[in-house]
Amino acid sequence: MTDDGDRRARYERFLSEAALAREHPWWRPGAMRPEERERLVRIGLAMVLGDRAGDIRVRRGDEDTIWATDGTHGFGFPIDIVLGDDPRTVLEHDLEWLVDELCETAVAWAKRLPECPLHPDSHPLGLVVSDGLVTASCPVAGETVRFAGY
Ligand SMILES: [Zn+2]
Repeated sequence: MTDDGDRRARYERFLSEAALAREHPWWRPGAMRPEERERLVRIGLAMVLGDRAGDIRVRRGDEDTIWATDGTHGFGFPIDIVLGDDPRTVLEHDLEWLVDELCETAVAWAKRLPECPLHPDSHPLGLVVSDGLVTASCPVAGETVRFAGY
């Protein structure tokens, strides 16, 4: 690339970052972008609730917080510069938050989440986040019940 092309590319990148900061005043370097956070929350929800994930609505709220709600009870995932933007760290955090909060919704009231479909009312599935993959497995059968790339 020529020097001129290089300079123009840098300038265009600067303009697009400035536009992003204007469009999303709560977005800060080091924090995960809200689109990406919303995607991870949806993946986490599918891991924790399985087929019932559709009973919870996920939407972007004020200040780019991602909200999950069953219509009565709701909880949020705010932009977090301390948590950072590493997808694995954020997904591990969000899975824990989903497990804690979803048992307070009508969808999964007082249940131990994620429910093991192989052994109902017995134990929760174990959740493991590895590089690029999240799995939910029965700790007794040692079987993977569901998984997703992220
Ligand atoms: Zn089981």
